[in-house]
Amino acid sequence: MGGGLAGLLAAIELAQAGARVTVLEAAGEFGGRARTREVDGFLFNRGPHALYRDGALKRALDSLDIRYSGGRSLSGARKAIAGGTLHPLPASFGAILGTSLFGLRDKAGYVRVFKAVMDGATGTASFARWLDDQQLTPMVRATVEAMARLASYANAAADISARAMLDQMRLATGGTLYVDGGWGTLVHGLAETARGLGVDLAGNTVVRGVRRVDGALALTLANGDTRHADAAILALGPREAAALAPQAASLADEAELARAVRANTLDLALRRLPPGAHDFALGIDAPVYFSVHSGSARLAPDGGALVHIARYLAPGDTSAADSVTELEAVADLVMPGWRTEVVSRQALRGMVVSNALPRWDRPRAAVRVAEEPGLFVAGDWVGEHGMLGDAAAASASEAAQAALHWLEGAQ
Ligand SMILES: Cc1cc2nc3c(=O)[nH]c(=O)nc-3n(C[C@H](O)[C@H](O)[C@H](O)COP(=O)(O)OP(=O)(O)OC[C@H]3O[C@@H](n4cnc5c(N)ncnc54)[C@H](O)[C@@H]3O)c2cc1C
Repeated sequence: MGGGLAGLLAAIELAQAGARVTVLEAAGEFGGRARTREVDGFLFNRGPHALYRDGALKRALDSLDIRYSGGRSLSGARKAIAGGTLHPLPASFGAILGTSLFGLRDKAGYVRVFKAVMDGATGTASFARWLDDQQLTPMVRATVEAMARLASYANAAADISARAMLDQMRLATGGTLYVDGGWGTLVHGLAETARGLGVDLAGNTVVRGVRRVDGALALTLANGDTRHADAAILALGPREAAALAPQAASLADEAELARAVRANTLDLALRRLPPGAHDFALGIDAPVYFSVHSGSARLAPDGGALVHIARYLAPGDTSAADSVTELEAVADLVMPGWRTEVVSRQALRGMVVSNALPRWDRPRAAVRVAEEPGLFVAGDWVGEHGMLGDAAAASASEAAQAALHWLEGAQ
């Protein structure tokens, strides 16, 4: 149930092992949050999407021989935004020396913490606690937090596990790819692979409930039909999963306790990039992001530009009514003159980037639904491995393997 990245990847792994698989997807289109929309030749992902080069999602795509291309993101000069002006972003040892963001003493402090991360630093409590222990000046701390937000999208240092955040920061140093044609290319490749393996991809199929009846799982659909399955994977968010299987108290707990990572985004299709525009900027004293994704991937017609701007929302930060104005102001600073070049725009408020950040005080959901044998979960809120699309991919594989194990035992 659910035809996003997790559902498609799990379906492929099950079909490869010989299972007969159907994917039930509520929307007319597959891909969930990884969908891409085309407007006048511009390709809009649902907010800024970058594929971690050393992550589980890329490994899964490559092992399936899914065809995609793209450019390494963030290879040009990057900027930091602080005090309303732009500075070189200290994202490498060379850039740390050259940045006007802080003075010599802070540079030394930043190099020390940067090196500690690269050398494998870890922690058992929250990332905020780990930062406290480093005894950083406010500016160095703000810069480390900004780099951490960039790597994880999470603006929740007090909630997120230090271990998970530090691992994610190291993962991010391996670089990311902006995908030609957008993440819809990845979805298309996965859907084709699934079909080739005989997976039945059923779109426009809303599932309303799942429960075991007479030895099989009965899936009730919104159109009144019932489908039967020996095993099933809920590859949707924790709240949706809990609503579909109210008999599972563990899912109700996840729905209540999972802390989602959210963002406001403004995606701009421009006739051309205004002269003097910068490619990339990261907020240090405000949790904002700016990147010209078409600078490294084919996402715009010749001469055009596709730009993603975002605000990383803190937990409980309900997306402000003036979110678009705030993101437009970031664009004014980083690429003055953009307003007359707009062809199309997409503003998304309070988007769920990840359904659950990895907390330090409780593990993420396990793939097995304890109360309902044969029922499993997958998605970016499940399992112990990675974040974002990587967590979706890692948990999809884990759920598929657990389902296969269950099916073998059940026969
Ligand atoms: C702004 C933004 C930026 C992001 N940036 C990155 C990034 O840079 N790198 C990265 O790795 N990840 C990124 N992500 C996260 C990534 O998009 C997700 O982790 C991934 O797409 C999640 O896939 P999923 O299959 O777990 O969930 P989803 O994509 O949410 O799929 C769930 C599917 O279930 C379907 N569904 C729901 N209810 C039902 C029902 N009752 N019956 C049937 N179907 C149902 C939905 O329609 C949906 O298609 C970003 C996300 C956002 C929003």
